[in-house]
Amino acid sequence: MKARQGVLAVLILAVACGSAAGQASVSVHLTMGNPSGAVAEQKQRDNFLVVHDQFALSWNASRGHPNWVSWRLAGEDIGNADRTGDNFEADPALPKEFPRIVRGLYSTSGFDLGHLCPAHDRSRHAADLRATFVTSNCIPQAPKLNRGIWQQMEAYRRARAADGFELYVIAGPAGTAGRGSRGYETSIGDDSRAVNVPAICWAVWIELHHRTGDDVARIKIDTPAYAVAFRNDEEQPQHWRDRRLTVDELEQLTRFDFFSEVPTKIQRDFEAHVPALYPETPNGETDP
Ligand code: MN
Ligand code: MN
Repeated sequence: MKARQGVLAVLILAVACGSAAGQASVSVHLTMGNPSGAVAEQKQRDNFLVVHDQFALSWNASRGHPNWVSWRLAGEDIGNADRTGDNFEADPALPKEFPRIVRGLYSTSGFDLGHLCPAHDRSRHAADLRATFVTSNCIPQAPKLNRGIWQQMEAYRRARAADGFELYVIAGPAGTAGRGSRGYETSIGDDSRAVNVPAICWAVWIELHHRTGDDVARIKIDTPAYAVAFRNDEEQPQHWRDRRLTVDELEQLTRFDFFSEVPTKIQRDFEAHVPALYPETPNGETDP
């Protein structure tokens, strides 16, 4: 049964890659591309594609965390669903043969279960919000980063979505060794299941005016594309904007190709510079 599902998924992917709709036909969350060419095939244990209605991701079974999580964000995704009582669980969409990453592996580690696709980005319905509480959507994140500028960056994106933009966001970890509330670690967990502690937590997104139609075709050389990379550390700069870089630089760091569905010559332009931020950040500060 499992094998048949795997074969079917591969076939669907093969067909999707050759079609005009590209990755968008696999998932709206992959409209701009599949950054690592992840495939839903069990032997791809370190680049295993998982598509949920709420986001898509590439799972790394050796590291016990995702390579990236990708989602589309628009105003209609944001509501008042309450996260009270929601707790991270192992992702039931992952093959049973992979090590099961449960939240207990994080406890007393000094690291938060840091959401990549934030709960609040899926707060329109309780079920959507609950769907973000899978360990395939989290990384061991330094608490002061998770609860500080990382969260402010997430709030900034939601404010833009609420202002009539739609965003395609990808976030993930890179490298090994971070500093949590109990000091440096390279991994957490127990003897049988370890979770890599990333050295870097990064995010990248593009911002479009919220319209219907082909979003890839609407991307121009001046479409704003933001990239940030933070050390996974208890010490952080005061503002998330202080850790911006170009998409090209983040691609070098992660070795992923973001926005690969966009024609190469357009990517070359919008990925090469750091765009201006909207002046008002949600924490009431003004961009200099
Ligand atoms: Mn968080
Ligand atoms: Mn790219």
